[in-house]
Amino acid sequence: MFGDQEKILLYGLILMIAASAVRLVLRKKRNRPQHIHSGRSKRPLSKQSCSYCKKKVPPKELTFYSGRGRVVGVCKLCRPQAERQALLRL
Ligand SMILES: [Zn+2]
Repeated sequence: MFGDQEKILLYGLILMIAASAVRLVLRKKRNRPQHIHSGRSKRPLSKQSCSYCKKKVPPKELTFYSGRGRVVGVCKLCRPQAERQALLRL
């Protein structure tokens, strides 16, 4: 009565339900307290400015280079500039 594709779908559905049921049971067993709002998690990401164009970018988009006794953090647009100056990538 079920085609092969429908069977696979059905098995997938059952697996998904089983997995979420297991997760629910595990969560109950552990009885982990809910996340307490510390207020710090919602703080906006502090942005750093690129050493070359001074554009504010998220820290993870900065690439750091060292050279001439200082460290510069550059955005991806200025990265070729830093590489042209043969700075050492950190
Ligand atoms: Zn830049």
